[in-house]
Amino acid sequence: MPDPEILEPTDAIIRVQTAAICGSDLHLYHGTIPGLLPGSVIGHEYVGVVEETGSQVRRFKKGDRVVGAFHVACGSCPMCRRDLYHQCTSGGVLGYGVAFGNLQGTQAEYARIPYADETLRRVPEELTDEQALFSGDILTTAYGAVVNSGLKPGETVAVIGCGPVGIMAVQSALVLGASRVFAVDLLKERTALAEKLGAVPVPAGEVNPVSHITRMTDGEGVDAVIEAVGGSKTIQLAFELVRGGGRISAIGVTSESTFEYPLMNSLTKDITFRIGLANIHRDIDTTLSLVRSGRIDPTVVISHRLPLEQAPEGYRLFDQRKASKVILQVT
Ligand code: NAD
Ligand code: ZN
Repeated sequence: MPDPEILEPTDAIIRVQTAAICGSDLHLYHGTIPGLLPGSVIGHEYVGVVEETGSQVRRFKKGDRVVGAFHVACGSCPMCRRDLYHQCTSGGVLGYGVAFGNLQGTQAEYARIPYADETLRRVPEELTDEQALFSGDILTTAYGAVVNSGLKPGETVAVIGCGPVGIMAVQSALVLGASRVFAVDLLKERTALAEKLGAVPVPAGEVNPVSHITRMTDGEGVDAVIEAVGGSKTIQLAFELVRGGGRISAIGVTSESTFEYPLMNSLTKDITFRIGLANIHRDIDTTLSLVRSGRIDPTVVISHRLPLEQAPEGYRLFDQRKASKVILQVT
């Protein structure tokens, strides 16, 4: 691929140092998100060094080490002015095809970052690339989902799915004051990692998560559920785990266009159901601060570090769940 060039005065070109493969990239890998044109560069988790800035970029200069949000936002449209950066009327997702703005991605040596002043953050000097990297996506996605669940200190939480996003949700819920976090996954090694971080493991291959969690919450169910898998099956499970008056916050991506909403159950139980793409710009400064202070360690999910040339192998391992999170070392 040719190196990207500045197209708009608000663009920056960054030299990518560290990238990662995200669970969301697997949807492209399997072709379940349509609209990826041949010859597209994918990837949207990145830390790099600013190489060049457009004439209107004010906050960054050549040489700054930066982490960026996986989606871009202009910062001045009516949606951005409401802090709904993920709803920006001229936004998009890096490396996610025509349905998401047809922007090239960051699993590459260089990347063009639109609206650089809004999209990028300087990486604090004491943080490594890997520590900062996930604030641009999975950590802030998970943190935002917990914020969206309206969690109050002392409440109980169930996190469905302990992939990298779920593990970040476990850490975020604990930092935000959850008394107990139940970590549900089919893979036992994933619930075991959640347990190490302070969660109650619920290996769904061995125990029935509904009866297990219901019993451990004295028959009530949990105050809040974070759904971090994607699809109707686990959203259905969320409705079975939540207590009366509780909240569900779903972030899993799915290509299913509908699911059967449990109308009577949520009417009588008074359930709040929330779903949406992550609003990284809203929470990225918070997650960077939490990482900087040591209260969250996002690097615990990393299992593989590969040079960029071995990205196909990285995708294979990640897809087969032999890797929990793959870092692509670019330079
Ligand atoms: P992942 O695929 O690595 O992890 C998913 C986990 O769910 C796996 O550990 C798997 O074993 C588990 N799982 C699958 N079926 C299950 C079931 N029935 N019950 C319990 N556990 C089950 O993905 P990830 O990187 O952790 O991301 C999770 C989801 O979040 C993906 O769908 C991803 O696209 C999405 N995501 C959304 C946003 C957003 O903006 N909303 C941002 C980033 C990621
Ligand atoms: Zn992602």
